Amino acid sequence: MTLPRLPVKRMAERSALFTFRSGIPILREAMSPLALPALHASHAGTWMRTGDGLTHSVGKGEAVTAVADTPLLLLNAPLVATRLGYPDLSGLDVLELFAFVHPARFVVPTPKGLAHALDLAEPEDDSHVPRLLQEAAGALLATCGGPQWQEREGAWSALQSLTRLRWPWSGPLTGRIPRPERAERWLFSKLPEWEEAAELPQPRQVEMDQESTLARLAQLTGTTAEQRAGQRDYAAQAANAFSPRRKSGQPHVVLAQAGTGTGKTLGYLAPASLWSELSGGTVWVSTFTKALQRQLRQESRRAWPERRPDGSQPVVVRKGRENYVCLLNLEDALQGGFAGRAAILAHLVARWAAYTRDGDMIGGDLPGWLGTLFRKRGIAALTDQRGECVYAGCPHYRKCFIERAARASAQADLVIGNHALVMVNAARGRDHAARPTRIVFDEGHHVFDAADTTFAAALTGAEAIELRRWVIGPEKASRGRRRGLAARLADVASYDEAGGRAVAAARDAAEALPADGWLQRIGEGAPFGPLEELLGEVRATVYARDESGGTEAGYGLETEAAGLEGAFVEHAQAARSALAELRQPLIRLGTRLEALLEEPPDWLDAQGRQRIEGARHSLSWRVDLLAAWEALLERLGGPADPEFVDWLAIDRSEAREFDIGIHRRWLDPMKPFARTVLEPAHGVVMTSATLKDADDWTKAIARSGAAHIGVAPLLSAHDSPFDYAGQAEVLIVTDVPRGDIPALAGAYGRLIEASGGGVLGLFTAIRRLRAVHGRIADRLARGGLPLYAQHVDPIDTGTLVDIFRDDPAASLLGTDALRDGVDVPGRSLRLVVMEQVPWPRPTILHRARRLAAGGEKGGAQLFDDSIIRARLAQAFGRLIRSKEDRGHFIVLSSAFPSRLLTAFPPGTPIRRVTLDEALERVALPSATLPPGAGHGLEAPISIEDAARPA
Ligand code: SF4
Repeated sequence: MTLPRLPVKRMAERSALFTFRSGIPILREAMSPLALPALHASHAGTWMRTGDGLTHSVGKGEAVTAVADTPLLLLNAPLVATRLGYPDLSGLDVLELFAFVHPARFVVPTPKGLAHALDLAEPEDDSHVPRLLQEAAGALLATCGGPQWQEREGAWSALQSLTRLRWPWSGPLTGRIPRPERAERWLFSKLPEWEEAAELPQPRQVEMDQESTLARLAQLTGTTAEQRAGQRDYAAQAANAFSPRRKSGQPHVVLAQAGTGTGKTLGYLAPASLWSELSGGTVWVSTFTKALQRQLRQESRRAWPERRPDGSQPVVVRKGRENYVCLLNLEDALQGGFAGRAAILAHLVARWAAYTRDGDMIGGDLPGWLGTLFRKRGIAALTDQRGECVYAGCPHYRKCFIERAARASAQADLVIGNHALVMVNAARGRDHAARPTRIVFDEGHHVFDAADTTFAAALTGAEAIELRRWVIGPEKASRGRRRGLAARLADVASYDEAGGRAVAAARDAAEALPADGWLQRIGEGAPFGPLEELLGEVRATVYARDESGGTEAGYGLETEAAGLEGAFVEHAQAARSALAELRQPLIRLGTRLEALLEEPPDWLDAQGRQRIEGARHSLSWRVDLLAAWEALLERLGGPADPEFVDWLAIDRSEAREFDIGIHRRWLDPMKPFARTVLEPAHGVVMTSATLKDADDWTKAIARSGAAHIGVAPLLSAHDSPFDYAGQAEVLIVTDVPRGDIPALAGAYGRLIEASGGGVLGLFTAIRRLRAVHGRIADRLARGGLPLYAQHVDPIDTGTLVDIFRDDPAASLLGTDALRDGVDVPGRSLRLVVMEQVPWPRPTILHRARRLAAGGEKGGAQLFDDSIIRARLAQAFGRLIRSKEDRGHFIVLSSAFPSRLLTAFPPGTPIRRVTLDEALERVALPSATLPPGAGHGLEAPISIEDAARPA
């Protein structure tokens, strides 16, 4: 039966509930559910419900026509658009209404998640979702009319602006929110100001005995909690990092491997909190994933209260500045800097900014899905991505979330940061006194990768044009507040002769950098200026030499920066001179600014002084950036520097070029890490469930960087208390041919069906992930098994994991980020499937490191093996998160090398089986693990057996 389509206006008139103003339906009286037509599309089909309560299944074409005619109620418009194959779809997205009514409140953006958040009944199946949307919309609108609405303040003013922007929800909301008796305060006047506090004195030197550490641990775990011997041992070892340092530049370094379930978080928080209490100092815990930061925030509550008696925070989460909303950018967006849908996003973000805990937009309390509803990079434009902050010169400086977090962390007992932030702070932090000296690197197996990117240099078109804009300002008339150096330092440029000359010289020199349209000009063989000419040479060289096969596959291309032609080297030297021409006036300007601060002239008022302070900092790191680029270019054509790996690359996505450049990495990035992070520290713990390679500490020690400063780390290992023999089983499926996409998709589909969902599918290539998803998602959805995928669904990764965690029938496909960023205990994750052995990508960088390792004992193959084993161990670690968890870990590989089996915890049963046998085992009730004899399958092989050559 086909659905009789009624224009929304006719439906609304028929129910006599709406009147129309400028084409927008206005609700005449409150009711629930909302009598507007609703649409739901999943992989299983499409359903529409009329305003007067008839639900029909409809074809995609019909749904597209309906949605083009009338604004329908939807949940997650971009996702519905993907399902219908109609990218321009829009409507009344219930998630947008949720973000307006309950800013900064968590909801899983699925029908079930919405029902839970609003206390409504879960829809029984897809066909009941349109009704849920009407109920949810009705409930949200009713909230606005009710007296209990906690987020009422600011809503009326926001709605006036949103109505002017023709936000589809403004019609239904109008009349629901009464005009407040007193004018509402503007966001920027109502946010609280942070207060300056005296610098903390240096920490007292304290020796903590083992008894006190263990007593603190018992206090944190609770007297009734089971005493875990491994955890006590772990805490006692971690405490060594907090002893007084004996020699300058030689911190205590503890490498602590703790199997999943050891309880390492409280294990290190016990000595950390005790040390902080006794010494008055600050401990930093650095993580790699946002999920662990969230978990740490909760766990720290056992040791510290939310607030101290004076209102300050003992525990502060600190992220890179690009994570926080920049109030100046937000103000600009609200006042015309953003247009159309982006402006609506800005108003919803402003609603959130009034209620947020800490202004963190990425992984904080701003819903991760909000940005993706608006497609373009609106969220990024509201942060301070490009280092344009004017610091104390900004009118919102005293309310700025970034500055607030920086000040709070200087007074905190515990700062929860991330690896990149700790390294960037150490390398170019503004405040030397606030640099961390006692650091726990949790997820320590990622420190190497974080150091690798932090200490890298990349002279690319995209980076260079950013620098040009920072100096000159945007070229075309831009709506944004971005201004060049001359405008930001207008008083210096006008009143100080030397400063003015330096600014003008920098501006002239920056003309040599790539300008708007650079990529197109290079593609057409018409580059302009020395940098574009060099990038043109880079592009031509890469295309001439690349043999990776990436040209056809649409991936990025690269070639070594070696054996370069004379013409290339000449272009590189011309570009280097151009960069030096720019660096010189910037250095002169920096010196001049310092002089002005030391002996302030009459014209320099307090604001001007603050602007100069801010400019000085951003100037100095641009000078460093230019110096790094010049060093990189100077080397081209000369002998290779054995400390570095240099290469030329074209970055592409789906065969479209988006950046071109020259890259430099340290062969061993732990060298600069040791110098900038370890050496100034007093105590460092690096901890993880996968620090060492099986029983071998060699790689973990090398990757700590300790040897570079002559420190021998203290090693401690603590086995997981989980019964892997009884809780998990590894199946190596030997009959799915490599490279056969239909067979791969068939295997995934059947495994997900056998398991009834709860599958995390891990891929090493996005192309294969998409191909598999495309072949099985519809069929699975029709069987009630929703399948979500990174790089397919227009949903951010954090939200995808939230959706997966929330629905035990759902499965999730993804790549690297999911391999060790997912913490889903319980039934929602009961099967991990890897599409193949996770071989390292044979990049130029990997080859160089492999070659360097080749000379040492064991050679290049050991190097690769240790990478693969670490990846397998991390992926396996997703499966068993608690003592109650049960599950299977499957690798689809006909030739899985036995030497890699030591990646799995000792005792875990491992079997090589056919797909049919695997399906049989996966379908067994999980309580029957470990599967003993009697299922007609071969007995498990021991690691020792498995490790023998086949
Ligand atoms: S101080 Fe900087 S980051 Fe903060 S609001 Fe102002 S410009 Fe933005």
